[in-house]
Amino acid sequence: MRTVEDFFGENVFNESVMKSRLPKEVFKAVKEAIDHGKRLTPENATVIANEMKQWAIEKGATHYTHWFQPLTGITAEKHDSFIAPQDDGKVIMHFSGKELIQGEPDASSFPSGGIRATFEARGYTAWDPTSFAFIKDGVLCIPTAFCSYTGEALDKKTPLLRSMEAINKQALRIMKIFGKDDVTSIRTTVGPEQEYFLIDKKMYDQRKDLIYTGRTLFGALPPKGQQMEDHYFGVIKPRVQAFMKDLNEELWKLGILATTEHNEVAPAQHELAPIFTTTNIAADHNQLTMEIMQKVARKHDLVCLLHEKPFEGVNGSGKHNNWSISTDTGINLLDPGETPRDNAQFLLFLTAVIKAVDEYQDLLRLSVASAGNDHRLGANEAPPAIISVFLGSELTEVLESIVEDRPYGSKEKEIMKVGVHVLPRFPKDTTDRNRTSPFAFTGNKFEFRMLGSAASIAMANTILNAAVAEVLSQFADRLEGASDFDEEIHALVKEEITAHKRILFNGNGYDDSWVAEAEKRGLSNYKTLPDAVKHYLDAKNVELLTKHHVYSETEMRSRHEIFLEKYCKLLNIEYETMSVMAKQDILPSVSAYASDLASGIAVIESAGGSADFEKETFAEISAEMGEANKALKALNALIKECDAIDDYEVLADKIKDDMIPAMDDLRAHCDKLELMTAAEYWPFPTYGELLFGVR
Ligand code: ADP
Ligand code: MG
Repeated sequence: MRTVEDFFGENVFNESVMKSRLPKEVFKAVKEAIDHGKRLTPENATVIANEMKQWAIEKGATHYTHWFQPLTGITAEKHDSFIAPQDDGKVIMHFSGKELIQGEPDASSFPSGGIRATFEARGYTAWDPTSFAFIKDGVLCIPTAFCSYTGEALDKKTPLLRSMEAINKQALRIMKIFGKDDVTSIRTTVGPEQEYFLIDKKMYDQRKDLIYTGRTLFGALPPKGQQMEDHYFGVIKPRVQAFMKDLNEELWKLGILATTEHNEVAPAQHELAPIFTTTNIAADHNQLTMEIMQKVARKHDLVCLLHEKPFEGVNGSGKHNNWSISTDTGINLLDPGETPRDNAQFLLFLTAVIKAVDEYQDLLRLSVASAGNDHRLGANEAPPAIISVFLGSELTEVLESIVEDRPYGSKEKEIMKVGVHVLPRFPKDTTDRNRTSPFAFTGNKFEFRMLGSAASIAMANTILNAAVAEVLSQFADRLEGASDFDEEIHALVKEEITAHKRILFNGNGYDDSWVAEAEKRGLSNYKTLPDAVKHYLDAKNVELLTKHHVYSETEMRSRHEIFLEKYCKLLNIEYETMSVMAKQDILPSVSAYASDLASGIAVIESAGGSADFEKETFAEISAEMGEANKALKALNALIKECDAIDDYEVLADKIKDDMIPAMDDLRAHCDKLELMTAAEYWPFPTYGELLFGVR
C-alpha cells in the first residue's frame, strides 16, 4: 500500500524534484529566484521548462496552463497542449522557456475596474517561481501573476507579493537594529482554517437559490437547528468521513498540508485547517483547497457550500487567518522568547501590529468585505464588524504596567522595563479563549477571524502586511537614530500603546454594550461592503499602499470599482432569483394547497365532518399569501428601479438601503407560508432536509 509519505507532493514540481532533475547551476538559480527574488535568465528558463514538461508528461499531463488569480476572486486557467506539429504529420511535445515565463491569456473579460479601458486591452501572466508548479487533472499548472501591459496588477497575487516585499524590507531594518545580521529574509506566514457546509447533491439540484447564488434565499428553521451544539467536534458521519479522506489525499498529492478536520457548530458544517506556510503559497493553496473540496464533494454526490451564509439562522462560515512573521533563521517574531532582548523585540513587533490594526482598521475591514460576508459581520454573528485586538489578560497587564510605569504582577518591586525585564510565559490556552474577537493574539501569532469562507485570503494579508510594514518603517526610523536603545524602545512601546489602546478589547465582541463602547472609543463599525468601501480611497489609505508600492493609485481605483461592481452583480442575481422562486415555485405551490383545502372543506362538511383545520389553515394562508404577494410586487418594483441605475456606487447604496430590506420582507412571508403548507406541496427541500440530509 502506498503511504502518505509516498504520495505527498507527488503532483508538485517542488524543490526536491528540481534538485534531482535540474543541472546544479540551474537549480541554484531557481533557489535564488525563490529565496531572493532574483530574475531567471532565458537560458535557465529554457532548461527548467524542458525538465518541467518532461516531468509533467511522465505523470500523464498533456496540457499546461498559466494559473492565476484574477479579481473575480477565483482562479483562472486556459489550457494549451504541449503538441507541436512536425512536417511529417507527427507531433512533438514542446514547451519553451518563454512559454513558462510569460503568457498572454485573452483576458479582456476579466474585471479590471476600468484599467484596461484606459490603457491596454491585453494582459499577461508571469511565472511566480516562489510557488511551485503542479499537475491538476492532467494539466501542468504554473502559478503566475497577472498584469496589464502597462504594469498594473490585474490579480490578487501581485499586490500580495509586493506587500510581502514591503514587510520584508522594513522588518529587516528592525533585525539590523537588534544586531541580527544573520537574518537575510523575513516572511509572513499564514495558516487559514477553512469552514464549509456539505449537503446532498440531489437536494441541492432542486434549489434554484443554491444553484444560482450558493446560498438559500428562503427557508424556515427546522425544530432542531444548532441549539444543542452537538455537532461541534462530534463524530463524523461515514459519508463525510469518506469525503474527507479523499479530500486529504487529493490535497496531499498537491503538497498541501491539510492536517485538521472536524465538525463545526452548525449541522452539516465542517472545517479543514492546513499547517501554516509562507503567505503567498498559503493563498495559492487555499484557492486550490476550495476548488478541490468542491470537486471531491461531487464525486461523493455531495455539494460543498463555501458561501459565508448558506442558511439563515444557522452559523455562517469563515476562514480564520492565522498570521505571523518569521525570519529565514527560523525565528517567529511574534513569539515572546526567553531573554529581555528577545522580549523587547517581541513587544516591538506586537506594538507594531496593534498600531497597524488601529490605524488601518477601515482597510482591514474592507479587505474582508463581500456581499456574503455582510451576513456574518453585519449581523449578530462571529465576529462583529468592529475591529478590535484581543491580547488576553496577562499580556494586557504587561502592556498596562509599561504604560502606567508600575511594577508588573504583585511580586515585582521594580517598574516593568522593556529590554531589561523578562516577560512571564504566556501559556497558549490563556491567550486563546476569546472566540468572539476579530483579531486575537494566540500565543505566537494573530488570528484574523473576519475573513469570509468563500474569499481569497490574498487581500486581507496584503493589507495586513502593508500596514505592519508602514508601522515598522516608522519604528525603524526612530530606533536607528537612538542613543540609548533600551530606553528608546521602552518609550516607543509606552507611547504607542497609550495612543492605540482603544483598539485593545478582551471582552465579548457579540455584546451590544461593546457596540456602544466601541463608538465611544472612536472605532469604526462598517456593517456592510458599501459602507466600508467608501473609505478605501481615503488619503491615508492611498498614501500607505502607494508608498510601499503595494498598489498604484490606478490599481486602487480599479479595485474600488470592482468591489462595488461585484457586490451589485451578486445581489442582482440574488434578487432576481428570489423573484423567480416566489413567483414560479413558492406562491403557485401554496396556492395549489390552498385550493385543495378549499375544495376539501365542502367535501368534508357534506360528509358531516368538521373542516375546522381546513378552514383555519385556509384563512391563515390566504392572509399570508396576500402579504407575500404584496412583498413580491414591492420587490419587483424595486428591481425595475435598480435596473435603471448604472452607477455602481449609487446602486450599491440603493441595494443596501432598500433592496435588502425588501428581500428580507419577501422571505419572511414565504418562510411563514412554508410552515403553514403541507410538506408534500412545498416545491423544494427544506432546511431540515438540507441540514440533516447527509447521513
Ligand atoms: P488553534 O488555533 O485551534 O489553537 P493551532 O494553534 O494549532 O490551533 O493553529 C491553528 C492554525 O494556525 C493552523 O493552521 C496552524 O498551522 C496555524 N499556525 C500556527 N503557527 C503559525 C504561525 N507561526 N504562523 C501562521 N500560522 C500559524
Ligand atoms: Mg484557531
